[in-house]
Amino acid sequence: MAQKGVQVITVEPGSLAEEAGIRPGDTLLEIHGEAVLDQLNYQFLITREDQALLRVRRPDGSTFEADLENGGEGIGVDLAQDEVKVCKQNCVFCFVHQMPKGFRKSLYLKDEDVRLSFLYGHFTTLSSSDDAELDRIVRERLSPIHVSVHATDPVARIRVVGNPREGDILRKLDRLLAGGIDVHTQAVVAPGLNDGAIWQRTLDDLWARRREGRGSVLSLSCVPVGLTAHREGLPDVQDVDPAFARDWVSRWTPEVRKYTKDNGGEPWLLLADEWFTRAGLEVPGRGFYSGSWAQLENGVGLVRRFLEHSRRFIKSPKAKGFAGRRVLLLTGASFAPALSRVAAELNRTVGSHLRVVPAKNFSFGETVTVAGLLCGEDLKYAAHADREAKGGRADWVDAVVVPSSSLRTHTGPTDQYTLRGFVVREEGTFLDDLTLPQLAADLGVPAVPSGANLSHLLDHLQAADRGAFRGGALRSAFHTAGLNLPQGAYNP
Ligand code: SF4
Repeated sequence: MAQKGVQVITVEPGSLAEEAGIRPGDTLLEIHGEAVLDQLNYQFLITREDQALLRVRRPDGSTFEADLENGGEGIGVDLAQDEVKVCKQNCVFCFVHQMPKGFRKSLYLKDEDVRLSFLYGHFTTLSSSDDAELDRIVRERLSPIHVSVHATDPVARIRVVGNPREGDILRKLDRLLAGGIDVHTQAVVAPGLNDGAIWQRTLDDLWARRREGRGSVLSLSCVPVGLTAHREGLPDVQDVDPAFARDWVSRWTPEVRKYTKDNGGEPWLLLADEWFTRAGLEVPGRGFYSGSWAQLENGVGLVRRFLEHSRRFIKSPKAKGFAGRRVLLLTGASFAPALSRVAAELNRTVGSHLRVVPAKNFSFGETVTVAGLLCGEDLKYAAHADREAKGGRADWVDAVVVPSSSLRTHTGPTDQYTLRGFVVREEGTFLDDLTLPQLAADLGVPAVPSGANLSHLLDHLQAADRGAFRGGALRSAFHTAGLNLPQGAYNP
């Protein structure tokens, strides 16, 4: 069988690859006699030694070898992207199963790719990783990776992931840990499914695998389950209501501190922000979160980090750029209280007129309160309702701000992999395919993405002053990090 290899898409002018006669359309077959499997594998092989012996195939099927003194660096090629692997699970709370019908196809992709886990911190249940792939992770030192454990009790895990072959997660984890791979772990918690004794066992098993040096469970986060209104034909799963969230917070907050102490001062057990927002409680102080904000993308510490940054920003000279601005900030119900407090403080300090309105999620159901799952139509509806409530004037605000996280793909990491980390779709498209320019045109005022903090937001408002974010001008660069809570539980 012909060797597969990876196709060369572009060759940098003047690069070692060009000097060696490698051209776009060629296929990189081997480096040092080892088959090139994908981009990540190319990076590993090419940087392993100061010199690289390549075997390359031309489009006509002929092959040649090139011996390059590359000093352990890349040789100036861009390789074809790989197809994302698809998961083999059937999780009872899988977000893809709970999607309303009619969204773009990529949102229904059940991706689960350990390469994305390494590159972007996506969580994987390891269902698409057989022993050969686990060994590859070890060989290529793809560390740390992020693993959705959910439960270490095999019976409970099978119940959660809906796959009788995937009960024994500890076997896979131990293979990685023994190979020196560090792992961040999470459990999406649903009442009656994997809480109580099952959660305690998960906690104990994973804590027992924390160690000094390489091959350690670096953290364990717990995230409350997220359910949409679209669960027809799916197993019954109990939602985390405010009472359950309050109990969880009061039971586990002291434990977080205990584990932090036992872990030499670095938080190890992590509670997602959503426990606090669902419980209607203030998020804890900085010391509750890891020094490096571990699992931030999983919704752990986002609110606290935003509050900390805002406090510093409001005291800075740049904050005066908000003076006099009349801005409507739309966000999800869970983030609205914290954002409102920050807006009020900014208004008091610099004389701005920022107002925060929580937008209801009609697309996924009102129980979905995270900003990242708001659709364009939900935001449009909230803005129109606000304008009506304020007397219906066309210039009722200077700008409408939408959560950056609502503009990024959340179940379409193919896009992320292809775009190498640029998580905001360039054209500014919401989940329901409405675009930011369309929203702005409908509202008659600029619509701008929030960015990750007030400083980003001001940059965006000033860009809007100059005419950016209108019509085709959206390609102007804007901050890509999301301001609001990400999907958290929706991306297990
Ligand atoms: S939640 Fe993730 S791992 Fe589970 S079925 Fe859905 S895509 Fe697969």
